[in-house]
Amino acid sequence: MERKDNGRLEGRTAIVTGSTYGIGEAIAKVLSSEGAISIITGRTDEEGERVAEEIKSAGGAAEFHHLDVTDEKEVDEVTRATYEKYGKIDILVNNAGIAGPNKPTHEYTREEWEYVFDVNVTGAFLCTKHVVPYMKKRGGGNIVYISSIYGIVGAQDIPAYHATKASNRIMAKIDALLYAKDNIRVNSVHPGFIWTPLVKDFLTDQSENLGGTIEDLRRELDAAHPIGHIGEPNDIAYGVLYLVSDEAKFVTGSELVIDGGYTSR
Ligand code: NAP
Repeated sequence: MERKDNGRLEGRTAIVTGSTYGIGEAIAKVLSSEGAISIITGRTDEEGERVAEEIKSAGGAAEFHHLDVTDEKEVDEVTRATYEKYGKIDILVNNAGIAGPNKPTHEYTREEWEYVFDVNVTGAFLCTKHVVPYMKKRGGGNIVYISSIYGIVGAQDIPAYHATKASNRIMAKIDALLYAKDNIRVNSVHPGFIWTPLVKDFLTDQSENLGGTIEDLRRELDAAHPIGHIGEPNDIAYGVLYLVSDEAKFVTGSELVIDGGYTSR
């Protein structure tokens, strides 16, 4: 992604969880293209280094830190290191997420259910918990929770995932209320289906369990979106850019739906 030099986020530090690939990678690249220093995080070090290098080659600023969001010690280390190096944390995007097993609720084991919550809910909680004190010290900041259309409407698959995405939606509203007085804006983003490894794996799983080719399933998914196709990671990244930019200074506790019309039905 080319450096745009509109400088909407010049010099701001942005921690993007789960930015080693998928939507998080696109968010980090778009924020850096507007002057932010993106802190790329995730568990796949090679991919994280790749994303950071690609941002730097395009003239942006980025660095990779290994981070499993379920590990509070690692969350503490990454947030502390960012604050100590740059003197501030302006932006946190709680993007890291997993789909979890695709089976009915009653077939889940407690461990399977809890692991999806550990990553998608507790992981986001831990990042917010550790970032807020630094944001307060500097007089403000921006937090975005990447929820889903399934934080708004239901579906008859991956039940734990949908429950976590509904949690993310309300977590954003609670934090918006709690920290408005601290000049910290908090919003949620609700993507429709976006072509990433998460969705590719989901379709592979469906094709193995229910039959049909991945191409057929992809066509069905495209048709489920009134606009005629699923989205791409940048569709979400530009929404996040808006929310964390000064143009959105009156926007907090809001839910930005980016879904090709999926939830309008
Ligand atoms: P993805 O392609 O599977 O990427 C997920 C990212 O999360 C990767 O960078 C992964 O990196 C990271 N991650 C997973 N577990 C982690 C952990 N324990 N600690 C830290 N990072 C972890 O998924 P995606 O489609 O880009 O989804 C990103 C977010 O958007 C998720 O919250 C998802 O719920 C949401 N979303 C996606 C869609 C969609 O259609 N794609 C729709 C609605 C909402 P590592 O493997 O390197 O750790």
